[in-house]
Amino acid sequence: MSPWSFLAFAVLLLSPALALSNQPPNIVLIFADDLGFGDLACYGHPGSSTPNLDKMAAAGLRFTDFYSSSPVCSPSRAALLTGRFQTRSGVYPGVFYPGSRGGLPLAEVTLAELLKGRGYATAAVGKWHLGLGPNGTFLPTNQGFDHYLGVPYSHDQGPCQNLTCFPPDVRCFGSCDQGVVSVPLMWNQSILEQPLSFPKLQARYTAFARDFITSTAKHRLPFLLYYASHHTHYPQFASEEYTGRSPRGPFGDALLEFDGSVGNILQTLQEAGVDKNTLVFFTADNGPETMRMSRGGSSGLLKCGKGTTYEGGMREPAIAYWPGRIAPGVTHELASILDILPTVASIAGVALPNVTLDGYDLSPVLFGSGKSPRQLMFYYPPSPNQLLGVFAVRYGKYKAHFFTQGAFHSDTTPDADCHGLTPLKAHDPPLLFDLEADPAENYNLLQGDAMGPDLLTILKETRLQKALFDLRMEFGQSQTARGQDPSLEPCCNPQCGPKPSCCSCNKAS
Ligand code: MG
Repeated sequence: MSPWSFLAFAVLLLSPALALSNQPPNIVLIFADDLGFGDLACYGHPGSSTPNLDKMAAAGLRFTDFYSSSPVCSPSRAALLTGRFQTRSGVYPGVFYPGSRGGLPLAEVTLAELLKGRGYATAAVGKWHLGLGPNGTFLPTNQGFDHYLGVPYSHDQGPCQNLTCFPPDVRCFGSCDQGVVSVPLMWNQSILEQPLSFPKLQARYTAFARDFITSTAKHRLPFLLYYASHHTHYPQFASEEYTGRSPRGPFGDALLEFDGSVGNILQTLQEAGVDKNTLVFFTADNGPETMRMSRGGSSGLLKCGKGTTYEGGMREPAIAYWPGRIAPGVTHELASILDILPTVASIAGVALPNVTLDGYDLSPVLFGSGKSPRQLMFYYPPSPNQLLGVFAVRYGKYKAHFFTQGAFHSDTTPDADCHGLTPLKAHDPPLLFDLEADPAENYNLLQGDAMGPDLLTILKETRLQKALFDLRMEFGQSQTARGQDPSLEPCCNPQCGPKPSCCSCNKAS
């Protein structure tokens, strides 16, 4: 034993406070929905009010180059919980629906399962969107979470006439999915409310999170809380407390309510005395749905949004907050949602699962001891296939687009490249951008002047990296392609008829 390790060992023995701090840290993952790079006040939006997230950003580490694994919901959630690209787990193409037969395969090792092996208490609250399946096969309680309260998919995947906002007689603006069951609130595997009351939803989530944190802290158990909000997915809603309070209209009110719930969680951690031993990580699943115009989010200066492999579809705000452990600052290091599982495993002292992972341990970035091990990012479209492979590659500060395609989710912006009717285009040579000088992807480096030797090297390297990545990627069996069965839609009164309208029977207030 070196003199330094002997000293550290002696200090631990002598100091109960230090010994306590050696316990595995608690993990709180806060996940927003369809929130763009430019939506938070601390990322430059002039009309947003996000005081709690701003506080986290000021006291924590704010990322400028953090990526989701997909420009749509279900695949990025699969990547967050598994540390693997959605193509491996089979969560592609597109997303799950209320009657989907498939879900995140049970054979996948989730972050919750990993931490349970280390004695963590685990809870998920909010939007799941990784499938239900027959008898709730794919719900969170079968994927490593001890407790779950939430809506198992997007809240527009049900009829909007049941999605009331505050005041109660005002119907939420929006065109949601018709011909399916109304949106349920589930507690573990049971339906608590159907249809649920959206103005009351956030308060229930907050109370659930508060109870979970308080009781696990009381029992001195390390915990994982995965809080996946419905905010700020369209159509937006908010409670009486937040309605009309933002200068940004319904989107701003929903964002403000989300921010309020973040503040409640931070306050609870402090009151429970565990804030100094808790990593809180915030990010979002995919870029803004600009087709909703002012009711969609904003990717700020980035190009396009949800559904595309331009920066606006996948680059997200992200904040790591851990008072006393993570120094305040801004990092331009490359990082991804795929890195969360390996990073958490590292700081919790858990061995990685014996599967192919696509993430890296970001501890050096979080704790200021070094650079990000991630040098590359790969961009899959919502419907990836083996023939085309990844659409784009980020290599250091450069990004090469080998394929581009618009998306209806990204309609209404002035840039026609983003729109749904803009077809798939192959680019050979690829479009090449310097994302540090040109994050908006305006100026193709391979256009105009003759290519210098540096660019030729970059071009060669991005081509090579794409080829290697595509070659090595093993596509799992598609789970969304298993289709839908209306009898699998969650119904509070399974024997009732005619469906889906009879599935309305509130059991709790
Ligand atoms: Mg989403």
